[in-house]
Order: sequence, then C-alpha cells, then structure tokens
Amino acid sequence: MTHKIPTIGFISLGCPKALVDSEQIITRLRAEGYAITPSYREADLVIVNTCGFIDSAVKESLEAIGEALAENGKVIVTGCLGADGEVIREAWPHVLAITGPQATEEIMTVVHHHLPPQHDPHTNLIPPGGVKLTPRHYAYIKIAEGCNQQCSFCIIPNLRGKLVSRPIGEIMTEAENLVTAGVKELLIVSQDTGAYGVDQKYRCGFWNGRPLNTRLTSLAKALGELGVWVRLHYLYPYPHIDKLISLMAEEQILPYLDIPLQHASPAILKAMRRPGSSEKLLERLADWRRQCPVLTLRSTFIVGFPGETEQEFEQLLDFLRSAKLDRVGAFAYSPVEGAAANTLPGAVSEELKQQRLEQFMTVQAEISATRLAEKTGQTLTVLVDEVDNSGMAIARSTADAPEIDGVVYIENGSHLTIGEFTEVMITASNEHDLEGQVIT
Ligand code: SF4
Repeated sequence: MTHKIPTIGFISLGCPKALVDSEQIITRLRAEGYAITPSYREADLVIVNTCGFIDSAVKESLEAIGEALAENGKVIVTGCLGADGEVIREAWPHVLAITGPQATEEIMTVVHHHLPPQHDPHTNLIPPGGVKLTPRHYAYIKIAEGCNQQCSFCIIPNLRGKLVSRPIGEIMTEAENLVTAGVKELLIVSQDTGAYGVDQKYRCGFWNGRPLNTRLTSLAKALGELGVWVRLHYLYPYPHIDKLISLMAEEQILPYLDIPLQHASPAILKAMRRPGSSEKLLERLADWRRQCPVLTLRSTFIVGFPGETEQEFEQLLDFLRSAKLDRVGAFAYSPVEGAAANTLPGAVSEELKQQRLEQFMTVQAEISATRLAEKTGQTLTVLVDEVDNSGMAIARSTADAPEIDGVVYIENGSHLTIGEFTEVMITASNEHDLEGQVIT
C-alpha cells in the first residue's frame, strides 16, 4: 500500500532575512518527510511567508494569501506581516493560523496539527547545509533577528522585536556545513548586522572547542577562514565598522561594504533618527578607501522624506557627487502604517518625490558608469552564476552582490561551470555591468 507524501506549497516573499526564515521552515519540513511544491493544487496546504516592510509589500502579501486561499483553501501565514495578525484576519478570516517572523517551531506545530507527518526514513535525508532557496553556490546566513534602532520611517523593530543575536558557534557550524555542501559565497544578513553581539554583551561562545567572542569582527574573521567569499550586508554606520576595513584589506572577507546611509542632510538624518554628518562620513569613506583601495561601497537612500527642502535635496546630491559610491539604490519616501515619520510635517508631493528620485538616479548613473569604466583593462576574479546556450556566462566580481548589483558578462564562457571561480579581463562597461573575456 502506498501513502501520498504530505505536500506543502510554499510562497516566500520579502527580503533575504525572510528568505532565511523560509529556508529554516522548509529544512524542518523536508527533514520530517514533507514534500515541497510550487503548485497550489498539488499541495495539501500552503504556507505564505509575508513581508510587511512597506505598503506595497503588505498589498503583495495579502494578494498572495488570497490567491493561495482561492486555489488551495488551506493556508498558514507567517513572516513580518503576521506580527500584525489583525490586518490579515480582517482581509482573510479563514486562514488556518498566523505567526510572526522566525517562528519555525510554531509553524511546525500548526503543520503537524493540520497535516500530520509520515515517518519515512528515506524522505528524512536532507543536504548537510539544510534546504536552500538560493542557487547551490551561494547562501544567505542570518546572524541576528530584530533591531535596537528606532529609525522613524521603519516599523521593523515593532514587527521583529529587539536585537537577538544567534550564538556564534551555531552560525559557524551552519557556515561550515554550507561550505561542505559546495557553497562558494556566504552572504551575511540581519536587520542591523553591525550590532551583532551587542545584546549578548559580546560574550564568549565556542566553535569546534575554540573560544570566539560574539562580535562581528570575530565572526567575520572566523568566516574568512572557511576559504570562501564572505559578504556582509546591512551595516548601520557605527564607528566600529571601521575595524572591518582591515579584514577587507587583508582579503579575509570581501572588500564590500553595504552601508545604508539614507540621507546626507543633518536635519533630515535627525528627523529619520539616524546618525551622521556628511562631512565626517566623507572623511571616513576616504579613510576606508585609503586602507582598502579595492573597496566597493554600496548604499541606499530615501528621497522626498517629510520636510526635505530643495536645499537639503541638493545637499544629498552634493554628497553623492563627492562620495562617488559604487552601488546605490534609492527609494521615494513612502509612509508605512505605524511609523513615527508619519506624523512629521512637510510632506513632499508625489510628483516632486518622483522628480527628485529621477534626478538622484541620473546623478548616480554617471558616477556608477565612471566607477565601472575604471575597471576596463583590469583582471578580476569572478564567480560564475549562469551559463546560457549561446556560450555567454554571467558572473559576479567581489563588487557584485547577487540580485542587487550588476554582473560581469563573459562572451567566451561556454566551458565554464556554475559556481566556478575564474579570472577575466574587463573589456567594456556601462552604468550597471561589465563585460570581460576569460584569461586562458
Ligand atoms: S536600522 Fe533602522 S531601518 Fe534598519 S531595521 Fe533597524 S530601525 Fe529599521
């Protein structure tokens, strides 16, 4: 007699931190013998991991829940939007259960209740690195949950709570398992990566019997020993970030700093409840580049924040022109329900926000194009992400994080394999990407 394997549909929305939550839930489900399917109809029930960061993400999450209910009927909701269960219950009262983010145990209890597992040792086999939703050669590792900052435009601390750092030994074991499973690049994420360990008072943990402080510099150093690329994301501009630069200069971790600055005007930064004076920051950037000339600087900014005058916007553009950052993302300010910034005076009209966004992106496009053009003629190590039928390989250099940055197109790349490191000579560039030839 054969039993149908209990099968779960999984929809994962939101940022890499939510993706890591999804991976942890799927790893547990697979370990207990559940099959995972992208189809609602083949599934016995569906889990939707939601995002609640901005209003458009809330809308997308609610639509995904509605679609899963219409197609399947049995839906469990988890993730950031689940922290505010009322919004979901009002829109979709018939969901089976709602949990907040990082709730693998709760989710498993609900799944067991509605769809008991079958105990089959053959389906208990899972890869040593757990189940990953990313390609085999790179993986995100979430090192902490929550955030102790209070940026006025953000409700993440309300949704995900105060900072809770994972034990350093647990992170290192996960990283080791991933490397054993073939991962070539570890992407370190959390809401506020620079704050790692603060809540633990930097206490001493252990990895393979070796003492390690619960601190970002110790973690970065230890990860650097694993012999793969280590890329740090979402570093709030704390003073101690400076200490990471020497690790980058010594090639222990990738020379890549993802540091969301959000604005450059002191008045707007104050209204955002963020630190910073643009002059000091420019000095710090210059110093970082002096210490590590190959450093790639990535940042994000918000334009049209309440109270942003023409002069403050110009100040931001001036900063951009002086800082010459390599990679920049920008958003027109959009109010998020429950955020403190919603009560600030001086709302900027939608039309003006869009105009400023365009102007901002035009200024940055020129800077990015110049920065990338400087790489023509250089030899770069790249990691191959894709090889298409025409023989074109798509790879990334140390300056390119997956999904958010540019890529390196390699025309003579048919012999390359995905997940392989190779050396390329850069032959051309535009404002996003590079082109190169494999050096034989
Ligand atoms: S650092 Fe600021 S923007 Fe980032 S999660 Fe914390 S409160 Fe939100």
